[in-house]
Order: sequence, then C-alpha cells, then structure tokens
Amino acid sequence: MLSVRDALARSLATAPDPIAETVVIDQAYGRVLAENVRAASPLPPWDNSAMDGFAVRAQDTDLAGKGQADQDPCDTRDISPPIEGPWLTIVETVAAGQTPQIELQAGQATRIMTGAPMPKGADSVVMQERTRSEAGRVQIHEAAKAGQHVRYAGEDVQLDAIVLHQGQTIRPASVGLAAAVGRTHLKVFKQPTVGIISTGDEIVLPGLPLGPGQIYSSNTPALMGLVREAGAIPIDCGIARDDLAATRKAFETAAKCDLIVSTGGVSVGDFDVVKEAMSGLGAEMQFWKVRMKPGKPLALGLIKQTPAFGLPGNPVSCQVGFLQFVRPWIRTAMGDTKPFLPVIQARLAVPYSKRAGRCEFVRVTLHVEDGMWVANLSGHQGSGNQTSMESAHGLMLLSNSEHTLSAGESVPVQLLGNPPGQSNDGYPWE
Ligand code: AMP
Ligand code: MG
Repeated sequence: MLSVRDALARSLATAPDPIAETVVIDQAYGRVLAENVRAASPLPPWDNSAMDGFAVRAQDTDLAGKGQADQDPCDTRDISPPIEGPWLTIVETVAAGQTPQIELQAGQATRIMTGAPMPKGADSVVMQERTRSEAGRVQIHEAAKAGQHVRYAGEDVQLDAIVLHQGQTIRPASVGLAAAVGRTHLKVFKQPTVGIISTGDEIVLPGLPLGPGQIYSSNTPALMGLVREAGAIPIDCGIARDDLAATRKAFETAAKCDLIVSTGGVSVGDFDVVKEAMSGLGAEMQFWKVRMKPGKPLALGLIKQTPAFGLPGNPVSCQVGFLQFVRPWIRTAMGDTKPFLPVIQARLAVPYSKRAGRCEFVRVTLHVEDGMWVANLSGHQGSGNQTSMESAHGLMLLSNSEHTLSAGESVPVQLLGNPPGQSNDGYPWE
C-alpha cells in the first residue's frame, strides 16, 4: 500500500502544465497569476498631500505653536485661536485632480486638499485643524517638520518594480494594486473543470423522497464546494447506479472535464465497480489504496490522459481524500506554486493514541490559550460522521508509526480554511 507522500507525488505527476489566459481585472479575484505585474508608473505618481490643509515651507512655521504643545494631535475639535503663530499669505488653492501653478516663496502657503500634488517650493503640509484662515491669509498654529504629511512619489511602489508575482493567488488587495499601476487585464492560469460522480444504489438527490435503505447524496454537494474553494469549476455528473455499465457511462461523460472525481464504489464490496469501470475505459491505474485513515480505498487512474480520482464513499473519507490529493492537484494545475494547505503546530488538549500502519487525519477544533493554539477533537472520528468534519478547524496529522500522545504535546494541524480567531464573537478593537 502506498504512503500518503508517494500517493501525493503520483497524483501531482498527472497534473497538466497550467495554461495562461487573459481576463479583465474584475474577473481576476481568486485566480493564480501567470505573469509578474510591473509598475508602469511609480506610486504615488508624484509628491502629494496626505491631508487637507496648507502646503508650506517648514522654516516659515518655526515660531508657531506657542501655547499649543498640550493639544492632542488626534483631537480635531475646533480649538480657540492661539495667541502666537505666523501669518502666511495664501497664493492659490489646489484640489485633488488639479495641478499647482505657483511656486511658494517665503511667507506664502497654498491651500491644498488630500491627494493634490505638492506645489514647488513647499516641503510640508500643516493640517487644516492646526490653522486659522481668513481673507487670503492663514495663521499657523503648529511648527511643521520638513516632509510632514507629504506622500512622496514612489514611496509605495517604484517605477518598474514587480508588485505581484507569477504563481500567487490574487486577493482583493492584489486586484486594487494591479489597477493602481494601470492594469485593466491580468494574465492568469485557467481553472480546470472537475466532473463529479457519486455512485451507489442507495444514494438519492436531496429533495427527492427517500425509499427504504436510501440516503441523500452528501458527497456531491460537499465536493462541489471543495472544488470551488480550491478555485476550479465543478460539474455535477450525477449519481451512477452500482453496475458496471452505468458507472462506465458516468466516467465517459465526466471525461470531457479536465479531471474526474468520483465517490464510493472503490472498496472491496461486491458492488464496488469503480476500478473495473475505469479499467474498462483503458485507465492506467496509478494506485488504489493509500496508507491513511480515514480514506484507505482511494484510487487514481488515467483515462486517456484524463486523471480520475476514485474517492471513498464515506463522507469524511471522501472530503479528507479530496483535501490531501485532489486539492493539491487542482492548485498545481492552476499554477499555484504553494499548492498545499497551511500547517501550524498546536498543543493537544486531550490524550490520543493510534496504532501503527496508517497515518491519521484527526478532526480537531482550534482555540488559543496563553497565546498558543490548542487542538481538541471536534467529535466522534468515525469516517461516516459528518458533524465532526463540519465543525473541524483543521486535521491533526499523525504519521504511520504508532503514537500515544499525551495532553499538552505539540502536534501539526493542517488548517481547513481560515484559522479561527480568539475574538470571533466580538469586534476586538476599540
Ligand atoms: P462505498 O464506498 O460505496 O462502499 O460507500 C461507503 C459509505 O459511504 C456507504 O455507507 C455509503 O452509503 C456512503 N456513501 C457513498 N456515497 C455517498 C454519497 N454520495 N453521499 C453520502 N454518502 C455516501
Ligand atoms: Mg457504494
């Protein structure tokens, strides 16, 4: 039987080279970049004001501020006029989107708005709340330091710098940054299509009445979500009955996709026909059992170059198998240079033991205690028990060898989605 590591290597060996396509920037969120994005202009493009206020020469404000030293700089309430402070002549007003026309001379100030270019001659901005203006002049209540409230050209991004890298997943802030450097389109990798087949005579579509011995198909809906979360396009290829012809037909239909994922019928039961159906279609089997719990019966075949994962039918085995093999396959085919779920170290809250022979993926919740992650079993670990999978924050990873773990030991936990925060129930800041 193959180890998880070897099965993963064989799985990834079947992932195709990612294919690039160009999409409009609104469609780029969640995709993997297929190019380095360079800045065609610096950010900011020119020196500009970070405040509504007055652009000045710092040296002209030197004598200002007497009597104001105790003022909290964050207190923007109107303050009574100070006794001291130099008066400067206002020579022009520059709004965001305008260009200053006048170079500042000694004793002068330019009324300036946030985002407006700095006028020549000015080296700093005094915020409006630290001034008093009337009829063409402004009294400065605070000595300016040279450079204060000025955003310099290129301080965020220099001309031609790489702002986004090939292989990274595009987040909302990445889209914003790409737009800020002038991009309307981005080269990203194509999303694979994934055909999903459920198998089993007992499996019924949710919404239909259940006959004796029948259950709802939970694997197809779960896999649809898992495929989407991985970034690919799921295609529901229906439920195949437990006979060879029906299963074979379902695989033929699904073979139009870039990847086939089936669930159930891959074990040693009398009606487990998935491997036979794959073989009947000329599949080269890469493996059909993996040394793992849950999820030992797990097959990978190549049907005329289309990889087909036969995941187990038990819902948790199916999801765990997807996360270990199918998700990295999808991420690799999408060009992700880091295709694996993140792993953290956590302290085990309770003792746990396992036998040698298979590695185990144990469903755990996570919380923080004394600044450290603590992992607790999320519920009954039977491979058909879905509530403990639904409430799990991660999978504790235990290797093939025997383990008798005591409470307090440090264990690796593979994260499922975002790690839970300590403050989920309330906004944590002032
Ligand atoms: P199998 O791998 O086909 O032997 O199925 C193992 C277990 O998983 C059985 O209890 C099945 O009823 C269950 N199962 C199989 N497919 C599904 C599915 N699509 N949704 C929910 N349970 C399933
Ligand atoms: Mg079955």
